[in-house]
Amino acid sequence: MHTDFSRYRVEPGTELSLADHDPRDTSAFAGDKDAAKKRCKKLNERLEELQEALYAEGRQRLLVVLQAMDAGGKDGVLRSVFDGVNPQGVRVACFKKPTPPELARDYLWRVHQHVPANGEIAIWNRSHYEDVLVVRVHGLCPEAHWRRRFDHIVNFERMLHDEGTTIVKLFLHIGKDEQRERLQERIDDPKKRWKWNSGDLDERARWNDYMAAFEEAIARTSTAEAPWYVVPGDRNWYRDLVASEILVAALEGLDIRLPAVDPAIQGLRLE
Ligand code: ATP
Ligand code: MG
Repeated sequence: MHTDFSRYRVEPGTELSLADHDPRDTSAFAGDKDAAKKRCKKLNERLEELQEALYAEGRQRLLVVLQAMDAGGKDGVLRSVFDGVNPQGVRVACFKKPTPPELARDYLWRVHQHVPANGEIAIWNRSHYEDVLVVRVHGLCPEAHWRRRFDHIVNFERMLHDEGTTIVKLFLHIGKDEQRERLQERIDDPKKRWKWNSGDLDERARWNDYMAAFEEAIARTSTAEAPWYVVPGDRNWYRDLVASEILVAALEGLDIRLPAVDPAIQGLRLE
């Protein structure tokens, strides 16, 4: 068993081969789901405490970027990892196909409006990375155009970091077989049918192109200020555990300080 979750971080300046990252990995808990679930519960309580402290302190901000293939578990992470966390200090932004007003502006415009304010955690369900992923895979703009975006993104994220935002980026890595099972369930299970989107099959058919796009985007934009993590995604319980460990570690690293107590309330007894 290992407990160092930083090994899922993509070190800046290194190449990434997703084939070397096993989506079924459960090594930190050697497949022990019950132990992992217990640990996850503890982490969830800690996340709640840290989020409240972040909010009370009101000085720092956390941005979490979630990217994955369809059925990759973005919603699952949102539901499980942030379960019980006070929604007042957490904002979720979903980035779908850009609207005409969004397309009429630069691609960072729509995401910039959703950065966290002081004391907040913002979670981006998809993000500006779509502009070097789906845009690349579907050839929505020329290669020379999207290729320049790697530098913009690194600079944009560095700016956010320099101005006080901590950034954590999670790629939920599922295998192609696992995706087939999950999409099949969306057909077979009446409760999941609402999630079915026939467009997902078109994306699935381009699996290898997406993997190449993710590999390059992640390798080019994993920096000390805004690191990427490749989270094994096939086992939901393990994915939630790894995501929780990474987020709790990021918040612990902030050295959150609660505001000084007003001396006037020291020892004050209410009638
Ligand atoms: P689920 O996992 O539940 O299917 P989702 O995040 O896939 O949720 P959808 O509404 O199914 O949500 O899909 C959003 C779609 O919008 C994705 O196919 C994504 O690639 C696409 N999209 C997001 N940003 C852009 C962009 N900048 N340009 C083109 N397409 C985009
Ligand atoms: Mg979808």
